[in-house]
Amino acid sequence: MQSLWRDDDAERMVAHYVAKGVARDVALRVYTSRLLGGDPKLVLHGGGNTSVKTTMTDFLGASREVLCVKGSGWDLATIEPPGLPALHLQPLRELKKRDKLSDEDMVSFQRSQLLDPNAPNPSIETLLHAFLPHKFVDHTHATALLGITDQPDGKKICAEVYGDRAPLVPYVMPGFAMAKIASAVFEKYPKSEGFILLKHGIFAYGADAREAYERMISLVSLAEARLEKGPRKRLAAVALPAALAPVHEVAPIVRGAIAEVADKADGIWRRQILDFRATPAVLAYVNGADVTRYSQIGVVTPDHTIRTKNWPLVVPPPAADLTGFAAGVKAAVDAFVARYHDYFIRHNKRAEPNKTELDPLPRVVLVPGLGLFGAGKSKKDAQIAADIAENTIAVIADAEATGRYEAVSEADMFDVEYWSLEQAKLGKGADAALARHVAVVTGGGSGIGAATAAAFAKQGAAVAVFDKNADAAKAVAKKIGGLGVGCDVNDTKSVRSAFDQVCAAFGGVDILVSNAGAAWQGKIGEVSDEILRQSFELNFFSHQTVAKNAVRIMRAQGTGGCLLFNVSKQAVNPGPDFGPYGLPKAATLFLSRQYALDYGAEGIRSNAVNADRVLTGMLTPDFAKERAAKRGITVDEYMRDGNLLRREVKASDVADAFVSLALANKTTAAVTTVDGGNIAAALR
Ligand code: ZN
Repeated sequence: MQSLWRDDDAERMVAHYVAKGVARDVALRVYTSRLLGGDPKLVLHGGGNTSVKTTMTDFLGASREVLCVKGSGWDLATIEPPGLPALHLQPLRELKKRDKLSDEDMVSFQRSQLLDPNAPNPSIETLLHAFLPHKFVDHTHATALLGITDQPDGKKICAEVYGDRAPLVPYVMPGFAMAKIASAVFEKYPKSEGFILLKHGIFAYGADAREAYERMISLVSLAEARLEKGPRKRLAAVALPAALAPVHEVAPIVRGAIAEVADKADGIWRRQILDFRATPAVLAYVNGADVTRYSQIGVVTPDHTIRTKNWPLVVPPPAADLTGFAAGVKAAVDAFVARYHDYFIRHNKRAEPNKTELDPLPRVVLVPGLGLFGAGKSKKDAQIAADIAENTIAVIADAEATGRYEAVSEADMFDVEYWSLEQAKLGKGADAALARHVAVVTGGGSGIGAATAAAFAKQGAAVAVFDKNADAAKAVAKKIGGLGVGCDVNDTKSVRSAFDQVCAAFGGVDILVSNAGAAWQGKIGEVSDEILRQSFELNFFSHQTVAKNAVRIMRAQGTGGCLLFNVSKQAVNPGPDFGPYGLPKAATLFLSRQYALDYGAEGIRSNAVNADRVLTGMLTPDFAKERAAKRGITVDEYMRDGNLLRREVKASDVADAFVSLALANKTTAAVTTVDGGNIAAALR
């Protein structure tokens, strides 16, 4: 591991922040915090913390000694000065005289010492930072360090590797007790450069930013060297089926199995979004003959438990024909849930006060032969779980290659998992209405489709944008943080491939907005069959193709779903010369009802939106201009005058109707009209 410290980079950052009124010490603290946070071998997603002791002027103009320490909710990789709230240092140090301090008292006392009362909560390790005399203090959960400490003789190995340079601190829960013990260890070894928290991580300290950072790098490098020394055992591989099913077929089965019924009577599911990984290291690990032993020992450092639970789910390898796979996965999930429940009951007995059980669903799924899935309420959470799982694999593989992996005790894991200060890191508040849902929008590259994709993303859904124009799909997806896929809805192979990509990216599909369409015109007795058939291909058969694919995936998940079709007012109220457009749309309206009828028993709803006169829909600006000119009115008047409310119907109005139908859990076979009021097109 190399030091990334560069004098010119450091000075550039100092100049940047000093110009904004930030102290030099804090600017340097930001610089090395980002160096640490930028290396996943040192720090992952909100892990680790850093501090600097400096002086600041308080509200009354007096110079005060302060500790600037990482605030809760900030990530070291992207930290800014406000992510390092300042606390009065002396009062924090006074706490060292105490024997005991409750978590509640610790948190409220720390808050009371903030210079800015609106600052984020300081790190749960604040007191440890305060009790050490050094100006700069850095803490990480470095992968290599965990590889040597997470072993039955981790203590002995660390003592050999570090000696007095970094003495050992036995495992204790983070917070006041750990701060006391660590400071006592430091006082015994005043010349140390840092210390090792057994089965947790490492602290390094120094008189300046560079010294503390480079001590961290050099101490972690010693662990790396130790792991590379001597022979490494390879994980023995298990025999796998000759042919394996692809990830896009496996993912919906896994995703369905790790969803939980939130309300059985109402058919409401608590689903998760998936993120798939299959690096050589992941495969060597999941294919190990011993995977059900070493993967079930526990997390590599306690605070991972809130992201990954203590253990991953291990499912059987998916043979190509997938016969029996779903049953095998379900049995594995049932056993996982039962084990989690039992773990909770056993440890909750000694918890004071008693805790409320968290959801028992796995966050990491190991699939021998295939790879691993991270799971979470959003794509981002799933990625975090997968990143931590990859890091866990690196640590356990290191420990197993040189010795044997061992984690903290189950009781210690429980205490951290159910510690209010850890749970607070995940943030409070209810999920967004469509969090945990995957939505596919066809024709999503522009107009109503793009507005609909944005509306679903705003409600928290993971959105896949399909469009014939792949660049347009990707541009919309980029804006909303979704997945853009080039897809020709008239081509069954292209549709299948697009849905496969969604399953590989998110794990499955819950909502389909079948929106792609185009208008053809012609007097019905004179129009060519070719035109009529073209329109049927796009305005009817493509809806059937995408719906069929969505239903196939929804049935593999077994957690219901929602189909939404964009049918025009032409479907109920034909316009002159619009037969070629209206006929297939009428068939699509019927298609929506047929799906409602055939799949209602499986919890799959099917509804349609009947929109009219939307400038970015079938109605092109040129066409609107032409119609308006014919009547001698402006385009604006044309857009409003055609409806009862005299309001222009916008793409976002149609998008909102799709969202409301997606949320209407008791509604199926319905048509929602979004046309500002058109009595001739009213459904009867
Ligand atoms: Zn830590």
